[in-house]
Amino acid sequence: MSVPSKIEHFIGGRQVPSADGATFDVPDPVSNTVYAQAAAGGPADIDRAVAAAREAFESGPWPGLAARARAKVLNKIADGIEARGARIAALETFDTGLPVTQAKGQAARAAENFRYFADVIVAQHEAAFSQPGQLGYVLRRPAGVAGLITPWNTPFMLESWKLAPALASGCTVLLKPAEWTPLSASLLPEIMTEAGVPDGAFNVVHGMGEEAGAALVAHPDVPLISFTGETTTGKIIMKSAADNLKGLSMELGGKSPCVIFADADLDTAIDSALFGVFSLNGERCTAGSRILAERPVYDEVVARLAERAARVRVGDPSDPVTEVGALVHPEHYARVLDYVDIGVKEGARLVAGGSRPADLPAGNYLAATVFADVKPSMRIFQEEIFGPVAAVTPFDTEEEAIGLANGTRYGLAAYLWTSSLTRAHRVAAAVESGMTWINSHNVRDLRTPFGGVKASGLGREGGQHSIDFYTESRIVHVALGDTHVPRFGA
Ligand code: NAD
Repeated sequence: MSVPSKIEHFIGGRQVPSADGATFDVPDPVSNTVYAQAAAGGPADIDRAVAAAREAFESGPWPGLAARARAKVLNKIADGIEARGARIAALETFDTGLPVTQAKGQAARAAENFRYFADVIVAQHEAAFSQPGQLGYVLRRPAGVAGLITPWNTPFMLESWKLAPALASGCTVLLKPAEWTPLSASLLPEIMTEAGVPDGAFNVVHGMGEEAGAALVAHPDVPLISFTGETTTGKIIMKSAADNLKGLSMELGGKSPCVIFADADLDTAIDSALFGVFSLNGERCTAGSRILAERPVYDEVVARLAERAARVRVGDPSDPVTEVGALVHPEHYARVLDYVDIGVKEGARLVAGGSRPADLPAGNYLAATVFADVKPSMRIFQEEIFGPVAAVTPFDTEEEAIGLANGTRYGLAAYLWTSSLTRAHRVAAAVESGMTWINSHNVRDLRTPFGGVKASGLGREGGQHSIDFYTESRIVHVALGDTHVPRFGA
């Protein structure tokens, strides 16, 4: 497979290096060798790209196109992604270490995001309000230049998740991809240009979060930032965005519970719990990384999770049989291994994995890891590990299950397994989580609100929620006859 050795910014329709020529090294997670130099953007590059996006917003055709015309372009972007599906998946796997079968699914989902928002924008309609003597109607306008900052887990799909609604809404965009995984985004300029996105409407600046990302957040001509990443980064961004009163959408971290009651269909619940924590290498914001099991089935759940985890196929991410690939970066790998040490030191019972598989002497590999008897006070219960590490905890009552589920600062997703209809709804209502799945894993209808509560985020994206974020709705009030006006000073 050919992989580019140079990755540049895309500003105003052209591939360009950084203004000061700066680059950074990009390693792959299987060999940890540097395969490319990527342009390291700074404030000057962000300025150039914002100027191009602003020009395209103020003078270009994109914001003023009829919804149908923009939708056609979005559908062409989806065509371009589908035509390159295998290459996108291969590059994504090479850069992130995600198993290739799962990367293929993510590429398909990226195309679907563009098709979906093409449909949404064509179907979009606005409210009108009438009462005797007065009519009001809503005008919806794209908000301007949207700043999109994305993380390294499933980068291409998450980029599409922001690009599709932002472009559908008529915004022009500046994307700052994660520095650990710039590769798949380097295919976007060609896809966008081929689809007919006007120059300047889509821009990419690569670089470090603290430099390129921070300059984008601080830029006065960027009224919106859609950010997905760590909760700590989200806090920094909120502070910096406050100076310019920016609109913010924050999709942050998670430590989601998967609650298994004794009356659950245990076979499916265990399949789902394993998939929920080990798919996408466990580098998944909605991972069900805390498995809470009711006491009567607890020992069985632990034994079955341990036995299955030991058989999870960890290996070369480009091999189609691989279930867990290589973790994205040596720094992240070291962090995940630290958590394994922490779990052992805290006294949790390691029942599967916990170390590098013997047959994989190099690369960022960790065997699928399961800790049992994890107490809520332990760091491996409280903190997001973002790797293939599950924490299993017993509970005795429904109240205790809810307390444990809600017992972290996060609130992104929750998974409930029970055959009791009434309990399922009761617990779903009591769990502090932006998204709850009952007797199902993470299958999402694109129309539904996506986002978290507590430290997992602010605002919702998905369907109409995304359109609301990337647009301003303005109300126009019209008098339909004589207006009664109090006559001050008459
Ligand atoms: P991160 O916060 O380190 O980085 C995310 C992005 O922010 C990167 O592009 C980075 O360069 C940029 N950035 C870093 N510092 C910045 C700053 N000061 N100003 C502006 N930009 C800055 O996150 P990550 O490690 O790349 O991603 C993993 C995290 O993302 C996990 O916590 C995960 O749960 C979360 N995540 C959340 C969702 C969700 O929808 N809730 C989805 C995927 C990932």
